Amino acid sequence: MKQQEPEIHVGVMQADEVTFCLHGCYDAPDGPVSGPAVCVLQQGLILWNGRLHARLTFTPRSHTDFFSLSSVSIGKGFHWQQTEEQQFFGTLILTVASGRIGVINRIGAEQYLQSVISSEMSAQSPSELLKAHAVISRSWLMHALGQRSVLPEPTGRTDAGRWIRWYERDAHRAYDVCADDHCQRYQGFGRLLPAAVSAVQETRGEVLTSGGQVCDARFSKCCGGVTERFQTCWADTSFDYLQPVRDADRQPLPDLTDEAQARRWITSSPRAFCNTQDRTFLSRVLNLYDQPTTDFYRWQVRYTAEQLTDLVNRRSGLDIGTVEDLAVMRRGASGRIEQLKIVGSHRTVVVGKELEIRRLLSETHLKSSAFVIDRAVDGSYVLTGAGWGHGVGLCQIGAAVMAAEGRDYRTVLAHYYPAAEIGRLW
Ligand SMILES: [Zn+2]
Ligand SMILES: [Zn+2]
Repeated sequence: MKQQEPEIHVGVMQADEVTFCLHGCYDAPDGPVSGPAVCVLQQGLILWNGRLHARLTFTPRSHTDFFSLSSVSIGKGFHWQQTEEQQFFGTLILTVASGRIGVINRIGAEQYLQSVISSEMSAQSPSELLKAHAVISRSWLMHALGQRSVLPEPTGRTDAGRWIRWYERDAHRAYDVCADDHCQRYQGFGRLLPAAVSAVQETRGEVLTSGGQVCDARFSKCCGGVTERFQTCWADTSFDYLQPVRDADRQPLPDLTDEAQARRWITSSPRAFCNTQDRTFLSRVLNLYDQPTTDFYRWQVRYTAEQLTDLVNRRSGLDIGTVEDLAVMRRGASGRIEQLKIVGSHRTVVVGKELEIRRLLSETHLKSSAFVIDRAVDGSYVLTGAGWGHGVGLCQIGAAVMAAEGRDYRTVLAHYYPAAEIGRLW
């Protein structure tokens, strides 16, 4: 499996005008350039130095050269969205994409990962957690590069009584990965964390592998005590390395596909690595925007019958009528509901999978689809749930606790991906 460390193309931003500054000497179409520059979209092409170009490449002569970009938007879709100046090593490429100027950074995979781990993780995270994440991020990247030529899979099947959908990441065409949460957050090297840089260096080239292939190393915030199978959330495919794991030492794996066991599990608070209420610890390991949420291991939401009827009809676009009942049809290994029957006065429909259920039963998304349903005396629906996110693969909060308790990254990865090995690609 040995190979060269690849260079990757990261889509950083799109704009009608791009202001940047080249710190160092860069080779450009008309010879060497440096210093500030502006490119403007004109007649569907890029105007630079008085000429129009379909694509412009600025290649640094030295690996210490860097360029800065003004007005890069970060936190898209979050309440803290803002713009900032960012700095990048590697090559700057400007191209025309979807009628705008697309800014692409070509950079070595390891340097890219140093920025990703710095952007995604907190500086105070345990170093073994940073290393585990470096291996996962590298696996994710190499798996994503391998998927670029693969046709998208179908993402659902719907008929009169069934509404089963799942959501996979769409691949990009003009570049390998974007700089946003859609792929992995990449904010240049302006705020590299020394601990993140070491974590990437100390795991250089390491990826999770299974059967000679790089793993599709999924992860989520909090499993809820047991991790989920791939097929509860996405296509009906099984992966050896994405099997249910009891997120604790020496505890039996309950059968949460069984309704009675699932109810006992979700309405109690079993011991698990991710069952932590330590706010100081959580604020150290979670990103700033995640911190307001602390009820992730067990949680509850409540809707009046009218609210639920309104939500389900509006969010699904299906004319279900008044919701009369919710019934669990099928649960996955972590207790997450894969298929939920919604009984309405106009029609009854079975909805799935995991993310679609979370989307239909909340203005945003429910924390997870691992919940039990109770009716209060006034007819309200009370959903009592477990976990945060799809629950497949590594549990981030559990992994943080494992690392903080002194386990090394290999032990953490072996716990969440029991059938995977760590291989070194370069
Ligand atoms: Zn993306
Ligand atoms: Zn967990």
